Amino acid sequence: MGPVPHLIARVRAEFARTEQDKSCHFFPLPRDNDGELPPTLRAYCGFDIVPGQAEAFEGPVGMPCLTCLMAAALSESESA
Ligand SMILES: [Zn+2]
Repeated sequence: MGPVPHLIARVRAEFARTEQDKSCHFFPLPRDNDGELPPTLRAYCGFDIVPGQAEAFEGPVGMPCLTCLMAAALSESESA
């Protein structure tokens, strides 16, 4: 478990349809899932992503989803 308990991911270009798809979203990761990803992940903003159709990043790339960015920043400051 890294210091940041969320996943940063974006829908792969070949699956991206909307601006929201193309944005980089932040996904709170389940802590008790033994490293397994659920069939879909729900971002802080409510955006659903299928792990097989997404790529994960170490940090925000391109255009981050502002709703996710704010929620992730808040969750980090709360747990600090
Ligand atoms: Zn988002």
